[in-house]
Amino acid sequence: MSEDIEKIIKEGCCSQCGSCVALDHSGESFMVDTKYGPLPKLSDKSNFPSYINDACPSIGINYPDLYKYFYKSLPSNWLLGSIKNVRTGFSSKSEIRKKGASGGVITQTLIYLLENNYIDGAILAKQGVPTPEKARAYIARTVDEIIDCSQSIYIPVSMLDILRDINPNEKYAITCLPDQSASLRVLQKNKYLPALSIKYVLGPYTGTAIYPEAIRSFLRSKNVKFNDRITNLKWRAGEWPGYLEIKLQSGRIIRSPKVYYNYLIPFFITNTSLQSMDFVNEFADLAVGDAWSPKFENLGGGHSVVVTRTQKMEKIILEMISKDLLILTEESPFKALDMHGHMLDFKKRGSFIRNKFKKMLGFKSPDNGYYPIKIPITRYFVEIVITSIFLFGKLPISRWLISKFPESLIGPIFNNLRLFWKKISRPTKRKGLSDYKVICNK
Ligand SMILES: Cc1cc2nc3c(=O)[nH]c(=O)nc-3n(C[C@H](O)[C@H](O)[C@H](O)COP(=O)(O)OP(=O)(O)OC[C@H]3O[C@@H](n4cnc5c(N)ncnc54)[C@H](O)[C@@H]3O)c2cc1C
Repeated sequence: MSEDIEKIIKEGCCSQCGSCVALDHSGESFMVDTKYGPLPKLSDKSNFPSYINDACPSIGINYPDLYKYFYKSLPSNWLLGSIKNVRTGFSSKSEIRKKGASGGVITQTLIYLLENNYIDGAILAKQGVPTPEKARAYIARTVDEIIDCSQSIYIPVSMLDILRDINPNEKYAITCLPDQSASLRVLQKNKYLPALSIKYVLGPYTGTAIYPEAIRSFLRSKNVKFNDRITNLKWRAGEWPGYLEIKLQSGRIIRSPKVYYNYLIPFFITNTSLQSMDFVNEFADLAVGDAWSPKFENLGGGHSVVVTRTQKMEKIILEMISKDLLILTEESPFKALDMHGHMLDFKKRGSFIRNKFKKMLGFKSPDNGYYPIKIPITRYFVEIVITSIFLFGKLPISRWLISKFPESLIGPIFNNLRLFWKKISRPTKRKGLSDYKVICNK
């Protein structure tokens, strides 16, 4: 039994990756569904390898060490991580682009890997398993199954506990959120056999996720009766940037544009979103985000920022471009960074400050083995405002109150407040960000 991991689960700061469950030699630990999403239920007989704490994102994966092991050097830019190339674009197949979260690039690449025998299966997150409002890791072995898993899932999905069930003699790709990619690399570093059968890690940029409770709160704000069951749920249906679409047993279909249902974030944001310093999926072979910029937003249709981090993935992407499967244009890394300035700040400085606050108060918080050299004092004040909003938002009374407001009212109000906040906090949040430097712990 690992006392550190037990404490993390108890304090509610587990990152829900599933690594500990995969690593338990007893085989008697498992993930259980809770109102916060999947959480490890560790067996009394659990028996972990010595590197368990190194692999736990909530204890803190040592990024500098992992960089040196995996990329053989530290990144020259800690906002973007190690890169081979940065591009913007989308899948050339309109059906895949349309079904994808942004440009369908992840789905298209997975299909290419499968069709060309680079992999035997793809471990993906699938919404609707075991019930429509839940999501699980799933092994897709056909093109249709891969397409069926496209889109982003904004509630926690544990991706790594499934490792103990995979066939180590097969080759896989996996989609992972940033903490999970890093944890998986630690497992590979320690020669954990199932992790070595993962040949490609593809992952989204990851800003915020929300707890599953948010779905019911949203439905209450739409006056949906508790016994009207969900039959289908999609987080980003329709034209990019898409809308939340929930189909109900009664036949009712509820839709909410992405920029409106974001109002749920301050009330249901996950702890992982608040503590992870990795936005751009620094240990994925391929990292993909939405290409948020006025140019692409005006064009519509779905555009992604696509970052290759390893030579083998760069080779795959070049093959796909030459076969007209992906329409991608090389982009200046700095221009690409500018599309996500707010979220980069939220993670690279915000998470660091939040983790520091927690540590000062005696709570567990991850230590990633590096810290930003200089954060302006004004940025600490901004963080006090942000953290106060999240602390207020997670109170039961706030969650209850928000479910009483119609989404048609709160969605647009929240969106305008968000844009206003972005505008006024921009100078502080961007100040010094372009010159982000870190010191690695000894
Ligand atoms: C929780 C979350 C937060 C995000 N926040 C941001 C953000 O702030 N800014 C930004 O630019 N982009 C963000 N993204 C990324 C964005 O939503 C798209 O996922 C990304 O642009 C890839 O688009 P795509 O069309 O290539 O993916 P698709 O072709 O639609 O493929 C997506 C793949 O990712 C897998 N997947 C989906 N959800 C998960 C999950 N939770 N865990 C593991 N695998 C998953 C699916 O199984 C699918 O295979 C976020 C994604 C997630 C899941």
